[in-house]
Amino acid sequence: MDCVFCKIIDGSIPTNKVYEDDMMLAFHDIEPAAPVHIVMIPKIHIESADALTEETSAYVAHIFSKVSEIAKSVGLENGYRVVNNCGPDGGQTVFHIHFHLLGGKTLGKMA
Ligand code: AMP
Ligand code: ZN
Repeated sequence: MDCVFCKIIDGSIPTNKVYEDDMMLAFHDIEPAAPVHIVMIPKIHIESADALTEETSAYVAHIFSKVSEIAKSVGLENGYRVVNNCGPDGGQTVFHIHFHLLGGKTLGKMA
């Protein structure tokens, strides 16, 4: 499958990892949109939030259960934003569900 995040999971594309376990991976975004910009992905290919099921949403729950720990590990002590872009109108460009963890400054209002 031609999925950049599956290639990151299988190690064929290198990344700057900040957290990994059996269900998820978190790494620095290659084009940061904030002083700190981490991408958090499940280790299974789910196309988007729109494709989630009762079963696969366990991966999303797991990612959120680790958000605080990951945020603290990259210095986000004063808050952060978690963003999911879903589908073309949502601005999604990589069709493997992921959550952006953004911070390192006071962020503006959302679009
Ligand atoms: P989205 O636009 O929500 O689909 O987000 C995809 C994100 O993945 C973008 O912020 C990209 O900069 C990021 N990205 C794409 N390829 C890589 C890569 N090889 N390593 C790190 N981040 C990446
Ligand atoms: Zn994938």
